[in-house]
Amino acid sequence: MTTDALEHILAGEPKYRLSQVREAKYRSLVSSWSEATALPPALREKLDREAPISCLTLVTETASAKGDTVKCAFRCADGQLIETVLMRHEGERNTVCVSSQAGCPMACAFCATGTMGLKRNLTAQEIVDQVLHFARKMKAEGDAVTNVVLMGMGEPFHNYDSVMEALRTLNDPKGLAFGVRRMSISTCGIVPGILKLADDPLRVNLAISLHAPNDELRSNLMPVNKAYPLAKLFAAIRTYIGKTNRKIMFEHLLIDGVNDAPEIAEELADLLCRENPDGTGRPTPLYHVNLIKYHTTEVLGSAAERFGLTVDPKTGKGTFPSSPVKRRSAFQQVLYDRGISVTHRITFGEDIDAACGQLANKTK
Ligand code: SF4
Repeated sequence: MTTDALEHILAGEPKYRLSQVREAKYRSLVSSWSEATALPPALREKLDREAPISCLTLVTETASAKGDTVKCAFRCADGQLIETVLMRHEGERNTVCVSSQAGCPMACAFCATGTMGLKRNLTAQEIVDQVLHFARKMKAEGDAVTNVVLMGMGEPFHNYDSVMEALRTLNDPKGLAFGVRRMSISTCGIVPGILKLADDPLRVNLAISLHAPNDELRSNLMPVNKAYPLAKLFAAIRTYIGKTNRKIMFEHLLIDGVNDAPEIAEELADLLCRENPDGTGRPTPLYHVNLIKYHTTEVLGSAAERFGLTVDPKTGKGTFPSSPVKRRSAFQQVLYDRGISVTHRITFGEDIDAACGQLANKTK
């Protein structure tokens, strides 16, 4: 529900009602308007009818065996299903991984969401309501959501305006007040989106799904690379850094035999040094590589075939194998030895299909 729509519902009410309503929803985190006791009962009933506290209906909630991950499936008002994940980094932060689209049109070979195709873009309110759901849940547990990442279903830069409207709502100091350093957008490499973000006053973190250090492999893994090959992508990154001086996080999923060889790590180090915006050809602290364990996931048969993997004739689907821990460590060591800033992301929610690349609605 946008502010304009709320103003329409509140027509005839004193001016301060809008602040009270926003305060109840975004600060007090009421789960129903009946809890907003500062508002008159008739207005609470009207809001219940015309502006429900959430435009999403919770369908399923699944927790991982370790309890550090919770995945929710939500139904939108038009029946579309989306998924959102909470990751608890014990004693450190609680991150909500939010979807920006129902499905995704980008068809990355390794990604379960990519097998769904695009259903539609989500509205700003649908994006915000995913965060609010977990904010209410954490508050009830005496805790809070601390970080928001646009890394769920969808390509955020294909829904730029709604994503930024949602992030501005989350950033509002009178609302949830998430600082820009606690919100991240992850893109598969949509160059116009990177350039737009470079000029956006809301300076949130930017992550780029790289997954390959050369055009041939990257185009095979990520069709987006045909439209925006590495030279174009890094030209946009240099512009972004020139305007923002912000660090970029590069994500590299490690898939066994596909992109986890030490030679690929060397090539990645070469790429990041060559593309250092200061032109020295040395490693830069502005580039950070986040290595991610790939979670064996069903993918399109055509994608599996491109890498010589078997396809199940019954389902027409294939699976990419996860890189073994030894190869992942060796990959990290190469980058480390070359002076590249690198970490290995902790894995969350593999057992509930909530890990990276696994979001795809199995809920009916
Ligand atoms: S990795 Fe991201 S951009 Fe690629 S298909 Fe999956 S959801 Fe879409």
